[in-house]
Amino acid sequence: MSGRESRHEPWWVDTGRRTFWTSLQAPRRFWLKGGLDTLDGPARDTVVTAQVEATRPAFSVVIGIGGLFLMVVGAMEAMGATPGIGYGAALTVLAGLCVVAIAVALWRLQSWYLRLTLTLVAMGMVGMFLSVPMPGVDTYVLARIGLFNLLPITLLALLVRPMATWLLVAVVVLVSILRVALHGTPPGGLWLHALYLVAIVALGLVLRGYRTGFAIDAYRVRQQLWDQANVDALTGVLNRAGWNRVSVPLYQDAAATDRPTSLVYFDVDHFKQVNDTWGHERGDEVLQALGRVLHARQDDRIRPARVGGEEFAVLLVDMTEEEVMGFCRRVCDEFAQTVDAAGVTLSVGVAHRLPGEAMHMQLKRADGALYVAKRRGRNRIEVDGSAPAAGHGTAGDTA
Ligand code: GH3
Ligand code: MG
Ligand code: MG
Repeated sequence: MSGRESRHEPWWVDTGRRTFWTSLQAPRRFWLKGGLDTLDGPARDTVVTAQVEATRPAFSVVIGIGGLFLMVVGAMEAMGATPGIGYGAALTVLAGLCVVAIAVALWRLQSWYLRLTLTLVAMGMVGMFLSVPMPGVDTYVLARIGLFNLLPITLLALLVRPMATWLLVAVVVLVSILRVALHGTPPGGLWLHALYLVAIVALGLVLRGYRTGFAIDAYRVRQQLWDQANVDALTGVLNRAGWNRVSVPLYQDAAATDRPTSLVYFDVDHFKQVNDTWGHERGDEVLQALGRVLHARQDDRIRPARVGGEEFAVLLVDMTEEEVMGFCRRVCDEFAQTVDAAGVTLSVGVAHRLPGEAMHMQLKRADGALYVAKRRGRNRIEVDGSAPAAGHGTAGDTA
């Protein structure tokens, strides 16, 4: 409902409204998938994992409460305080203990399939022991049924993955059918029984849809804030803060395992003249062109950033010195071929990591190499001499 969105409202107002309309206009998305299909693969994994972890304690507590219900019911039957419904007090208490044990295990277990299986087993047990009444029952049994009905609503609200949700729904439906098949029409009649069932599932799914809606939007807002703080708005590559955040851990990881690590500075030649001759906007377009060239090559091994006005740094890991030189040449060539570059050239300073070297020292050497490239006439690649294989690019390479 983009027509209903207002720019002046806080995002959570928009989230609530959008979630409401999604439930009506895109029922498949809301009721079946819980809204998760609005995200692409990696984002969805992140949001799913975050929700599973965030709801983990509550999930265990709810199942644990189901187990405690059973134990209390069994104990009261054993003391003769309430009538039994055919399972025997000892068995009921034992079932309660099992469910509590499952709740404790769920708190720690990582395996998703194991968690799901145990959850379904626990709910099946609680369902059978708590909700299945004998014929000719009284209000006490109705109270037990009510108690059981609260549990699936709460668990559905906490379940994240569509498959888990629908398997729980299946268990709830199965218990309801078993209840009728084994013990005949429940008190209140079949229609009331079916109505309860539909209401339980629907209420649980509403809560689940809203929880996911907020989780997704909270993720998006967080993502936007991260981008604002770490990505350069003009060129789309990381800014200095973002580069520090992303590249320092990457560098330390590579250094700790002695993998090849190179640092490269790209600096636009005579950029002040570009601004002065063609105007600041034209200058911006030159920077954007370089940003695009670098961003297109960004991957697990190549991390570019804009670290100054017209200065870009790149961290390269797991690449041979030849590969790094090839990268530098290709960036210079590609940049020269962009329409926006229009004769503007780059100077490049490269430093390959020496054994035991710290990042700031290596940056200093790359900066020194850049200075040499400027002094030797610009439009060239210089590798710091301390590195063994200094295959220099020349003006001819980058033209
Ligand atoms: P050199 O070849 O020695 O690198 O000379 P230069 O002119 O490129 O270097 P200098 O450091 O003297 O000038 C950099 C200029 O970059 C100065 C500044 O006005 C300009 N600049 C910095 N940030 C931006 C920006 O975001 N947009 C534009 N258009 N210009 C910028
Ligand atoms: Mg410059
Ligand atoms: Mg500069």
